[in-house]
Amino acid sequence: MTNIVVLIKQVPDTGSERKLSDGDFTLDREAADSVLCEINERAVEEALQIKERNADDTVVTVLTVGPEKATEAIRKALSMGADKAVHVKDDAIHGSDILQTAWVLARALGQIEGAELVITGNASSDGAGGAVPAIVAEYLGLPQLTHVRKLAVDGDTVTAERETDDGVFGLSATLPAIVSVGEKINEPRFPSFKGIMAAKKKEVVELSLADLGVEADEVGLANAGSSVVSSTPKPPKAAGEKIADEGEGGTKIAEYLVAQKLI
Ligand SMILES: Cc1cc2nc3c(=O)[nH]c(=O)nc-3n(C[C@H](O)[C@H](O)[C@H](O)COP(=O)(O)OP(=O)(O)OC[C@H]3O[C@@H](n4cnc5c(N)ncnc54)[C@H](O)[C@@H]3O)c2cc1C
Repeated sequence: MTNIVVLIKQVPDTGSERKLSDGDFTLDREAADSVLCEINERAVEEALQIKERNADDTVVTVLTVGPEKATEAIRKALSMGADKAVHVKDDAIHGSDILQTAWVLARALGQIEGAELVITGNASSDGAGGAVPAIVAEYLGLPQLTHVRKLAVDGDTVTAERETDDGVFGLSATLPAIVSVGEKINEPRFPSFKGIMAAKKKEVVELSLADLGVEADEVGLANAGSSVVSSTPKPPKAAGEKIADEGEGGTKIAEYLVAQKLI
């Protein structure tokens, strides 16, 4: 295998305040701390483990579509051990929907030489569409192995265990292919000090829409097939009701459940 490409996305930290911009309901990137999506740390980890098992000249490339700030997520992936990065950034991409984002990713993948295995997260913690891997696979005409909890590559064959609510499925495909991983796939490594220093010198190729042959009217909020038109924050969680059991605890719980129309 020559090149494993990991699709990585910078997302607002779930621990900080997340909100949408007042004007166009796109993500307010200044309102929250930004981090590499946790599921993407696992995707990077999986690529690194495959490279280490192969012990050959396999290259791990990370690819992101995002604004300037997404460089921080790229550096994190590089400090974990990825070899190089491709960053697609262009103001015209702002507000793109899931189809447009996947289209840009597909076009960028077409420019990465020797890309045989593409690894993604199964869903990002902000958009949570859970559809980018499948859409990219469709655009590129590649087999997709999604929601994977175990992965192995042998020659040009990739085998995987796919876990969903319905059970566990054994999957197999011939490379090139796209794999999306779930939380059970591995525990991602922490970047070492050496890794952090090395990441500063690693290659980050920046590509614009023009470099990809994508026209500005194929992307962006104004050309999106869908857009967010309203949003209402969830009300904060109310404190629970405590019932002291003085012999009638069971009855009181039953009464509470009836009042809530739960039984
Ligand atoms: C505030 C906000 C507003 C939005 N508004 C709209 C809207 O109006 N209309 C609409 O259709 N969609 C909207 N979206 C969805 C947004 O376009 C998607 O987040 C984006 O297209 C990717 O989809 P996802 O995050 O749901 O990806 P998922 O399919 O959940 O991601 C799965 C995996 O795909 C890869 N991936 C996803 N995005 C990228 C990326 N940019 N670069 C590299 N890899 C990536 C990662 O490996 C990720 O783990 C909005 C999202 C947010 C956060």
